[in-house]
Amino acid sequence: MSRRVEVVIVGGGTAGWMAAAGLVGLLTPEICSVRLIESDEIGTVGVGEATLPQMRQFNDAIGIIETDMMRRTHATFKLGIEFVDWGTLEASYIHPFGAHGRPLGGAAFHHQWLRAAKHGHAYDLEDFSYAVAAARNGRFDFPSADHQQISSTYDYAYHLDASLYARYLRTFCESRGVRRTEGRVVEVNLHPESGDVASVQLASGELVAGDLFLDCSGFRALLIGEALASGWEDWSKWLPCDRALAVPCDRAGEFTPFTRSTAREAGWQWRIPLQHRTGNGYVFASSFIDADRAAEALMANLDGAAQAEPRLLRFSAGRRLRSWQGNCVAIGLASGFLEPLESTSIYLIQVAIQSLVKLFPDRTVDPALADEFNRLMDVEYERIRDFLILHYHANGRDDAELWRYCRAMAVPDSLRAKIELFTHRGHIPQYRTGLFSPPSWISVFIGQGLRAEHYDRLADNLPIEAVIGEMEEIRASIAARVAAMPAHAELVEDYCPSADPTPMQALA
Ligand SMILES: Cc1cc2nc3c(=O)[nH]c(=O)nc-3n(C[C@H](O)[C@H](O)[C@H](O)COP(=O)(O)OP(=O)(O)OC[C@H]3O[C@@H](n4cnc5c(N)ncnc54)[C@H](O)[C@@H]3O)c2cc1C
Repeated sequence: MSRRVEVVIVGGGTAGWMAAAGLVGLLTPEICSVRLIESDEIGTVGVGEATLPQMRQFNDAIGIIETDMMRRTHATFKLGIEFVDWGTLEASYIHPFGAHGRPLGGAAFHHQWLRAAKHGHAYDLEDFSYAVAAARNGRFDFPSADHQQISSTYDYAYHLDASLYARYLRTFCESRGVRRTEGRVVEVNLHPESGDVASVQLASGELVAGDLFLDCSGFRALLIGEALASGWEDWSKWLPCDRALAVPCDRAGEFTPFTRSTAREAGWQWRIPLQHRTGNGYVFASSFIDADRAAEALMANLDGAAQAEPRLLRFSAGRRLRSWQGNCVAIGLASGFLEPLESTSIYLIQVAIQSLVKLFPDRTVDPALADEFNRLMDVEYERIRDFLILHYHANGRDDAELWRYCRAMAVPDSLRAKIELFTHRGHIPQYRTGLFSPPSWISVFIGQGLRAEHYDRLADNLPIEAVIGEMEEIRASIAARVAAMPAHAELVEDYCPSADPTPMQALA
């Protein structure tokens, strides 16, 4: 029998600890052993607090209990993201985790919505989304498991404290055999013939060898970038934001079951409500505003008292041409960066881990596995990239340079094709892999102010009077059910009130 694969993870941020948790949670100890090196002196990026519903599948698969994790990371529920001032000033829409209405007469709901508008019934699309109605009313409850019910048509994710989440996963991993080494990697040694990573050297002088190395060292990309020089594809011409200022403030104002993203002069501001504080940040393009002005705008728009000075982070949009090269797999910020507008980074970490587990190599790596991993990750990155660019490009704002630049810029052909498909007849491309599904594209197309000239011809199969009747019924049913849901604050207080961050479940 072949010896188990010795995995060395460099980095103990969200990526490093999620990778360790995924490996020990999904693979048996006979397949691999896991050792993680992290440096408290260097620390983590410490942001990354809004997630997507897919995280729940990951947690379930590795055996994390929701209430326990939520209590110890002071988490709240998230039904989607509100975009304020994005399409035009003074307008807002919610991109929910869920569908609008239900198919009518064989056509997707939004086609009937477009058709109703042509017949003089200009409904607000948001009135047909259960998640939006709950979010706008500050309510939350778990989706129904009965797929016949309208209350089954949404999903949810979390807002959580990123540092506590990494700490939570660390205890979870250590209780399952992951070996943690505190230390700073000062050198990466490559095998002279294969060019693979042979070992990493710590400042203490210790040499750590392994079969498979995961580069989770964040923006530094110590292995994949510095040592292996895997190329970088730059996307900043489409996504020009390259800085963020982050600051927590006291919990105050609404306790929203959604993230808020407010477009500002040269970027956007996030608001993420946690149980013990609210996370805030201004993501901006340094070629359109300087950091001092951005900090002023951020500090002038907090709900509660700031708990610290704003912290500046630098980045640029893009990704590694090969995240898996030889025996090194980059996960997290070391593999690429897409701004947090749609909370996609932790999702990308999760997909990388799941793909790695599926394609898990022997002690000698077959290059075909790396090729397949890179192909899958390319698809994921490019789909998210297009979706993010859409938010910037389809804007009707004329008050600031960034917005004029983004409206005029040439977008990737793949996005141009999606916009044309939608504006012609309301169609949305369907694909199996990757984010985002049609309801997401619909929310953002319509929220940003794009309209389709025609609708799906199948929609005409049902008389318009019947369609209007069904639409009225769906809208009323959502409103009535949402009115009976608990308030988000009440449910959090009941279900997962903040607790000491030490994860008792993981220690048990
Ligand atoms: C402004 C901003 C907002 C974000 N918001 C979101 C969000 O809402 N949702 C979301 O999903 N994602 C978000 N992200 C992304 C998210 O923060 C990251 O994907 C996530 O934190 C993973 O980071 P990481 O583990 O790759 O890197 P890091 O957290 O930077 O961890 C790197 C690790 O490597 C270690 N390390 C580095 N060099 C060495 C060395 N020489 N020796 C030993 N150890 C070393 C560090 O000590 C650390 O442990 C955001 C990112 C930014 C910049």
